[in-house]
Amino acid sequence: MTLQRKPIAKHRRIVIKIGSALLVDRKSGLKKEWLDSVCADIAALRAQDIDVLVVSSGAIALGRTVLELPGGALKLEESQAAAAVGQIALARAWSESLSRDDIIAGQILLTLGDTEERRRYLNARATINQLLKLGSVPIINENDTVATSEIRYGDNDRLAARVATMTGADLLILLSDIDGLYTAPPHLDPNAQFLPVIPAITAEIEAMAGGAASELSRGGMRTKIDAGKIATAAGCGMIIASGKTAHPLKAIESGARSSFFAPSGTPVTARKTWIAGQLQPAGELTVDAGAEKALASGKSLLPAGVRSISGQFSRGDTVAVIGVSGREIARGLVSYDADEARQIAGRKSGEIEQILGYAGRAAMVHRDDLVITGMIANENEAVREEDANA
Ligand code: GLU
Repeated sequence: MTLQRKPIAKHRRIVIKIGSALLVDRKSGLKKEWLDSVCADIAALRAQDIDVLVVSSGAIALGRTVLELPGGALKLEESQAAAAVGQIALARAWSESLSRDDIIAGQILLTLGDTEERRRYLNARATINQLLKLGSVPIINENDTVATSEIRYGDNDRLAARVATMTGADLLILLSDIDGLYTAPPHLDPNAQFLPVIPAITAEIEAMAGGAASELSRGGMRTKIDAGKIATAAGCGMIIASGKTAHPLKAIESGARSSFFAPSGTPVTARKTWIAGQLQPAGELTVDAGAEKALASGKSLLPAGVRSISGQFSRGDTVAVIGVSGREIARGLVSYDADEARQIAGRKSGEIEQILGYAGRAAMVHRDDLVITGMIANENEAVREEDANA
């Protein structure tokens, strides 16, 4: 774990996520002066050869202002239409503002499939890397006009974390109207304490997140913590900071309050990063205590340790592994289709051929295809230490 917090300018590649409420005023539209101040901060980083990617929200908020749509919740097709109108204006604003410092912006609109399907993921990653190589600043958003509810991120916090891990960024900065993580919502609880450094996202930290989001922004603290899990597991640090002032990046450097989520000191490989970051596993395998211990010590998941299975998945799909506590402990690519997995669950690997009629893989999820994503029970931590000492 890297608890040390480096200055922003000591990073190689930074993803900056900007919330809608910072960029768009419901009445007057785009906050141009503020945007110019962010772009000046970005130019200062670019001048030091740091790669910068922006995940910008605001398409829907801006579009509804331009179209003069009433306040309150929008129907899906209304928000898609608003995004179509807003995204053009948003991209132009970024492009114009960055060009004041001779920086070329490139627009990238992603859907969930572009990050979840491996082939499309590799393709999107190659395009983004090429843009960076050409010295451009990618301005990324979800392709809201085509993404329907089942196949959309819906919030740019997690999208930004996915972009950060996809491009091997070492820092993700979430700018919104809150300056960091508190032990409880600060506007409701006067005893709420601010947390400047979060060494690891434990169950306790997750519990602090609550769920609230405003009309202008989709992501509350919940999606920010989810983003933190995706980013830190891949070795990318994350900062939550307020973007309410001008020059918000400079403000962080000068000591404005912000929360830092330390990157994992043992980041998983790029392939495992992709597995761990999948938003919608196709199924769940609930395992027993013995299997949980085995996973903690880096072993494969054998059919014998699987107690129950839910979901319809095919061989090679990502499944979540649920531990004895009922919480997710790992994710991996499953070696069997769901109906086969159900037949061999709880059985010895030596029986697989007899049950299925062919000799399949001994493991339900092989260790090379498996990544630990949650906290394994304390008891097993001790086991892990014993193993380490053995
Ligand atoms: N993609 C949405 C937009 O541009 C924003 C999602 C979010 O607020 O996180 O309006």
